[in-house]
Amino acid sequence: VGGLPNLAELPAPKLSFEFFPPRTEALEAQLWACIRRLEPLQPRFVSVTYGAGGTTQARTHATVARIIRETSLTPAAHLTCVGAPRGEVDDVARAYWDAGVRHIVALRGDAPAGVERYEPHPEGYAYAADLVAGLARVAPFEISVAAYPETHPTAQSAGHDLDNLKRKIDAGATRAITQYFFDTDTYLRFLDRCAAAGITVPIVPGIMPVSNFVQMKKFSAMCGAGVPEWMGRLFEGLEEDADTRRLVAAVVAAEQVRLLQANGVDEFHFYTLNRSDLVYAIAHLLGARPAAPGQA
Ligand code: FAD
Repeated sequence: VGGLPNLAELPAPKLSFEFFPPRTEALEAQLWACIRRLEPLQPRFVSVTYGAGGTTQARTHATVARIIRETSLTPAAHLTCVGAPRGEVDDVARAYWDAGVRHIVALRGDAPAGVERYEPHPEGYAYAADLVAGLARVAPFEISVAAYPETHPTAQSAGHDLDNLKRKIDAGATRAITQYFFDTDTYLRFLDRCAAAGITVPIVPGIMPVSNFVQMKKFSAMCGAGVPEWMGRLFEGLEEDADTRRLVAAVVAAEQVRLLQANGVDEFHFYTLNRSDLVYAIAHLLGARPAAPGQA
């Protein structure tokens, strides 16, 4: 009989957590409560996003710098190249290096709201692969990039998108983190396609615990993540019942990660949305345990 793996026989999972830079003092307090709660789980790194078109440049930097100053965590800074000349992007990267950041999540970013089609800046890095190559010239960063198990929404084809991922790896990235997905088979098939294309770096699944289903569905339509019908059924009728929604969300994410684990996946990147409770519980179910005091 198949089934879920025996936790006692598995090594601890390798975890990373993603945060967004806070806009207000209240959100800052929420982020830091989240960081403090997750810190003892000793993630391999924690990453901080870069707002659309660089709009959070200063806040991303400040958040990453505080993580270095005040925690035992290893930060990764997201960086996008949309809408900026190469020199400006290089300067941001250099400032990260000087602040002690050694890991960049290198992304293209999206066209600003209201602009239908992405156009590269005339003096900019046109695509993430160009940014990866540029970063390697700035400093010897560790570089992660984005991958899309369900294909990037504006890609010419799934094949073109996979070629693009390969170009990002060939340019120097050593890890891909996926867009979130809910259909485990899609991700596992994507791993097979990556392997067939000669991509050998880890393709770490991005896990999004969902507690606001309605909002997530809207967002997913924009970023090309499929929301299976069974998920809609699970959240049906719970629009006004946040408590039950959270319990359902925990079960959905727990089933997803345990199924991935049963298929040999041992690395997980969590989109925390700066909230720790679901993420902590799911990491616990995967076998993560806090470090003993003094070891964090
Ligand atoms: P690319 O790899 O450059 O690909 C973008 C599209 O262009 C794809 O369709 C690709 O197939 C196509 N393409 C690539 N090269 C060529 C070429 N030479 N000719 C024609 N087509 C080409 N956004 C933010 O603004 N800030 C963040 O912090 C952020 N973090 C993210 C983290 C993760 C893990 C993920 C998965 C996404 C993140 N995003 C973030 C969103 C990301 O910026 C968007 O998904 C964006 O649309 C694509 O970025 P990319 O790096 O995948 O682009």
